[in-house]
This record gives sequence, structure tokens and C-alpha cells, in this order.
Amino acid sequence: MQNQPFYRETWAEINLDAIKQNINAYKNHVPSGVSIMAVVKANGYGHGAVATAETAIQAGASYLAVAILDEALALREEGITAPILVLGWVPPIHAKLAAEQDITLTVFQLEWLEQAEAILSGLSLAIHLKLDTGMGRLGIKEEKEAKLIVEWLRNKPLVNVEGLYTHFATADEPDNSFIEVQRNRFEEMASYLESEGIEPTWIHLGNSAGAIRIPERIGNMIRVGISMYGLSPSQEMKSVQPFNLYPAFSLHSQLVHVKQMKEGEPISYGSTYHTTEGEWIGTVPIGYADGWIRKLRDGYVLVNGEQAPIVGRICMDQFMVRLPHPTTIGTHVTLIGQQGSEEITIDDIAERLETINYEIPCMIGPRVPRIFRDDGEKKGVMNTILKK
Ligand SMILES: *Cc1c(COP(=O)(O)O)cnc(C)c1O
Repeated sequence: MQNQPFYRETWAEINLDAIKQNINAYKNHVPSGVSIMAVVKANGYGHGAVATAETAIQAGASYLAVAILDEALALREEGITAPILVLGWVPPIHAKLAAEQDITLTVFQLEWLEQAEAILSGLSLAIHLKLDTGMGRLGIKEEKEAKLIVEWLRNKPLVNVEGLYTHFATADEPDNSFIEVQRNRFEEMASYLESEGIEPTWIHLGNSAGAIRIPERIGNMIRVGISMYGLSPSQEMKSVQPFNLYPAFSLHSQLVHVKQMKEGEPISYGSTYHTTEGEWIGTVPIGYADGWIRKLRDGYVLVNGEQAPIVGRICMDQFMVRLPHPTTIGTHVTLIGQQGSEEITIDDIAERLETINYEIPCMIGPRVPRIFRDDGEKKGVMNTILKK
């Protein structure tokens, strides 16, 4: 795990225990024999890819998944040796690099295989074939495409079809019917491939929501992303998931300036807010460049267990809050998380921004260091702007 220094008063805390608990909850939910692929793309959904990958493997995940080759290479650079699947399309000219680094690629095009073979120069490459059963994004869609790929794969011992998978489009919605359509298409194609001698080790259909919904019918591996971080894939899933999830991410800062105002004094760009007589204003050093975007201006933060509303426009690196009481410089500010009986959840922020919870930790940028806690103790820090 990284342990980089940082020198600002704003940070995110990542509770690695929560990640372990969430993985355990999934392990108990799916039949024994179903393995877990921990999805750590997008810097572990903003939680830090290296620390979350290490924690997931420690908690019993068998495989890691990322979106792009660079993310897989970054994990290898940090010494992570677990198998890694790239879920996105990787340019075939990089197949050799993937093979050298023991990185598994997602494949669904005949041309891709032809181009990759030409540069593999004798190295063996592990691939997972992807089927498009209704997501309309990536994958083999028609049996005739599958046929050409099957024929090409014959007598190609260097290309190891280690997995077969698909992705559900509506797993987080209450209606099951399209999941069943996609499952049936998958089954059909999988039996055809099997009849042609393609019998991969790993079959995986479900993301977090799919694994909640039909744990016994989504192959022998589940791809768990959002829920591993303790967030429900949707509001609908919250009510049907038969176990608790524990959010791993919280966001913190400190008051760096506090002052008492006179009647009618302006605050921030555009002077859109004017104080009342005697009001206390605090300055919080995080802004839209950190991902605390201007649209959050109608929100609030927690100070000494109480709500402190954001006042005036959010700036690039700072914003102001109205404090309910005189408060000292250095006082802890919670932007996401709990203080006493008050809590601001990622779901609250997502609702305020009219988006999904997935987007929130992803948008808290690299300028905000991540502090990792395990058993309550500080275990490391990721500060991508300072490195070492
Ligand atoms: C991101 C992703 C996942 C993880 O989905 P969650 O809803 O976060 O569990 C699974 N599979 C694929 C193909 C993905 O791109």
C-alpha cells in the first residue's frame, strides 16, 4: 500500500474494514464455488486502486478488473500479482505488453485476434470472450461472428480463452424480465461455444446488482464494483439486498479561517450571498477543482455535529459556510460521513446532484489525498500528486 506524504487540510478516508465486510457479505450471499472479481477501475471508484485491490484480494477475491490497460499496468507496477482482467477494448498492438505483464484482455472481434497474433511473437495471451446479450456496448452479438472467432481460435494454442462473460443492462431495476432475456441469450451462445470445444474456466454475468438478484445463476464468478465500496447499485436494490453494506468513503476538511460578519456583507464570487449582523463565516479549503463542484452550493457540511450551510459560490479551491456558533480555526469539517447523530451520505450528495452514487467518489479528484484505515489504524496514504 502506498504511503505518500500530504500537506493540506482536506482528505478522504477509506475504511478498508468496510471493504472486507462488503466482500464477505457477497461471499456469503453467493453459492460456495462462486468466486469474486473485485472491480477496481477508475482508481477503485475513487477509493484508491492499489489499496482496495490489495484489500479485496486479502478478503478472498480471486480476480481484479479494470477498465483500461494503463490501470492494469499501474497495479502491476505496485507489485500486485493477482490476475487482472481489462474490461474495455485494448488496442491489439498492445497485446504483447499485456501478455508480458500477465494481464487478461477482453476480446470480441476477429480482426482484433488477427492483429494481436501478428505481434504476440510466441507469447501466450489469456483472454475473456465477451458476449453482447443486450447491453449494446461491447461483445459478440451474432452467432456468425462467434463462428468466425471459433474457427480462428482452432489451433491457436497461444490464445487461452480463460473466460466468457456478458454484462446486464437492467440488473439494478426491479423488473427481472430483461435479465432473463440476456441470460437466455448467454446460455445459448455459451452452449454453442461449448459444442465447439470452448469451455473457459471462468463464466461471469453479473455485476453487484446481478449478484444480489440471481446469485445462483450468474456463472462461477461475480464482478463486484459499487457494492464492494459499500454503496447500493440503486435505490431499488437497497430494499431487496439481504445484507448490509458499509460505505468505505468519507470526506473531510478543516476550517482554515473564521470571522464574524456585519449586516449585508458579501461572500464569494458574484457577491450572491450577504451576511446578517453577527453571523459567523468559516472557510473550507476544498473546491470544484477537487470535485466539490459548484452545483453543491445549496448543500451543507457538518461542523461540531451540526449542519453548516454552504454560502456563496463554491470557488476552485475553497468555499464558505455559515457557522451556527463561533468556532475555532482548525475545527474538523465533514463533507461526506458522520458527525455525532448527523450524517451526509454519498447517496445524499448524488441525489442533490441528480446523479447516481457511482459518480460521487469518482469525481473527488487526485488533489484530495486518500488516507487508508484498517482496524481503525492508519495504514497508508495515496497522494497521486506528490508520489514519494
Ligand atoms: C464497472 C463494471 C462492473 C461493476 O459494476 P458495479 O455495478 O459497480 O458492481 C462489472 N462489469 C463490467 C463490465 C463493468 O464495466
